[in-house]
Amino acid sequence: MIGVLALQGDFAEHMDVLQALHAMAKEVRSITDLEGCSHLIIPGGESTVMARLMQSCGLWDCILDRAQKGDLAIFGTCAGAILLASEIHGKNAPPSLGLVDMTIDRNAYGSQLQSFHADMDLSTMGRVQCAFIRAPKIIRTGKAVETLATYEGNPVLVTQGRFLASTFHPEARGERAVHRMFMGL
Ligand code: GLN
Repeated sequence: MIGVLALQGDFAEHMDVLQALHAMAKEVRSITDLEGCSHLIIPGGESTVMARLMQSCGLWDCILDRAQKGDLAIFGTCAGAILLASEIHGKNAPPSLGLVDMTIDRNAYGSQLQSFHADMDLSTMGRVQCAFIRAPKIIRTGKAVETLATYEGNPVLVTQGRFLASTFHPEARGERAVHRMFMGL
């Protein structure tokens, strides 16, 4: 079962992609909802707000505990990727789950006005449609991290063990390849 964290942000678009892939999926708003999920998507949105909501309902500690035990695969997109990082740069950075050994710079491309679309060729997945919306930049990756795609020299899709992080939104354009890959983790 794939859970989509549904406290804030664009969780509905992730649910649409999972439905198109005929995956078993549900929205997660509580610790009880997370039970039975082997996979969790942390969507894009506002990382500071999402972290606060996760902490206040107890999901933060529960997710961290299960992820550290290897009991939960996590895909973080944009704000979700920020929360997965071990180090977050930028003003008013949220707390981090620290599950992926990387440094990420929040809002590194600027404001909403600097949001953009790009199509990228990923060796493993072919051409992937990506939306960058107030996207962060991954500015350092540790040895355990594998970079799966770069854009203008910066990693935009990385993986470490059962964790996957993208600074872009595949779901915003109905792209399915990245979700399909996550389902295999
Ligand atoms: N800039 C947002 C943040 O820092 C992330 C934007 C997004 O998820 N599209 O949380």
